[in-house]
Parts: sequence; structure tokens; C-alpha cells
Amino acid sequence: MAFLIFFVLHWYLSLFFQSIFHHRYAAHSQFTMSKGWEKFFFIGCFITQGSSYISAKAYGLLHRLHHAHTDTELDPHSPSYSKNIGTLLLMTRNSYHHIFIGKTVVDEKYHKNLPDWLAFDKLAHNWMARVMWGAIYVVIYYFVVTQWWMWLFLPVTFGLGALHGLAINWWAHKFGYTNFKNDETSKNILPIDILFWGEGYHNNHHENPSRANYGVKWYELDFGYGMVLLMDKIGIIQLKKKLKPIPVIAVVSNKEQILEKVI
Ligand SMILES: [Zn+2]
Ligand SMILES: [Zn+2]
Repeated sequence: MAFLIFFVLHWYLSLFFQSIFHHRYAAHSQFTMSKGWEKFFFIGCFITQGSSYISAKAYGLLHRLHHAHTDTELDPHSPSYSKNIGTLLLMTRNSYHHIFIGKTVVDEKYHKNLPDWLAFDKLAHNWMARVMWGAIYVVIYYFVVTQWWMWLFLPVTFGLGALHGLAINWWAHKFGYTNFKNDETSKNILPIDILFWGEGYHNNHHENPSRANYGVKWYELDFGYGMVLLMDKIGIIQLKKKLKPIPVIAVVSNKEQILEKVI
């Protein structure tokens, strides 16, 4: 029981910070927040992602490139250009790492409104911190594991932040249903989205990346958007746009048009 509580809590806390801070805030600027709250989220990401801590700036750039070049050779992680989930993981890791170290120079137009706390990233984004978190997870497992097979989940705990991203980047570009007929492979995954708090409505999201609510149909509940509304209400963040209904028919093929939506 203790193992289950730890695993589920870790899953959703890590997902919360990646969805709210990395995806909805850093990559898509769907809302604003003070510099103080930004720091809170940086620290929250470090605590919940631990050994798989992701730089918000590098993630934001990587993800904006994904939206601008979806399913083309310039897409930093496309299942259409990967043989399997393993090569997609490697492709994503390399694209991310090259952006993080500056080997891939990303055009200035993608840099708008990216959260960046260089001093903190230096502390959190290195091998010493990752090994330290790895050791902490082993100690936690030592106390909560009651059956041998539970240890098999340790690699998932080590790489949770990366695995959350991979699940959407692979699964939601391969299997699922679409509400929008665009020229991309993005799909909605339901009922699996219960594990991803709205991030699984990926076809809806690709159609309109700046829209804060990823659900379109009445049954597509975006729990992450619920969190955004709550944080907006209590003053942690300020939502930029009031929700507008979008038509479920639009065809998007102009990449410049997509770029405008992304940023
Ligand atoms: Zn995508
Ligand atoms: Zn996105």
C-alpha cells in the first residue's frame, strides 16, 4: 500500500509540474505568473522530477519546434521518423540535450517569454543531482517495497519526467481518435488521459496550441485546465485569454500560421 501511494503521488505531482510549468506556461505562455511564483515552480519541478529534472527553457524551445515542424524532418521528436519507441526516446533526448548545451542554435523567434533561471538549472540539471535523487529513490523503495516485483518500477521512477513526455510524443501521435482533420498525426487518447490530466487530448491541442483548455467535447475533461482555473482564481497565475469556442473542422497547413498559434 505504501508503495502504491508513493508511486501514484510521484506520478501526479511530477505530471502536474511538467504539464503546468513546462508545457502550458513555458512552451505556450497560456498564462503569466510573477518571478517569485516562477521560482516556486522551478523548485517544485526539481523536487517532483528529481533525477529526470527538465530545463524549462530547453523544453520550451524543443516543444515550440515540435509544434512548428510536426511530422516533418525538422520535428525534434516524431514517431514518423523513428523506428520504435526506443529510437524516439533517443531522438528526443539528443534534440533536447543539443538545445540545452547550445549545440543546436534555435532561431530567436522561438525564444519569446521563456522562463530561465540559469543559476538554479546549474544546480539541478547535472549528474550529481541526478545520482543524489537516484539514491533517494532507492532508499524510499527500500522502505515501501513489500514484493520483489515492485523493484521493477524503479527505472520508471528514475526517468519519470522523460517518460511522461515520451508517452504523449509517441502514443498520442500514433493511436487514438481525432476531432480535427489537419495534416498531422496528433491523436486524442481517452480514457488513458486519466493518467495525463488533459495532455492526452493531443489532437485538440495541436489544432489550437494556445487554447488553455485541451478538452473540446463535453466528455473530454481537462483536469490540468481545472488546476489552471483554480490557480488563476487564487492569484498564483493570470490566465491570458478567456476561453473561446473553436470550430471542429479547421484545416491547418500553413506552418507560419501554426507558429503564431504556438507563441
Ligand atoms: Zn505533438
Ligand atoms: Zn504543446
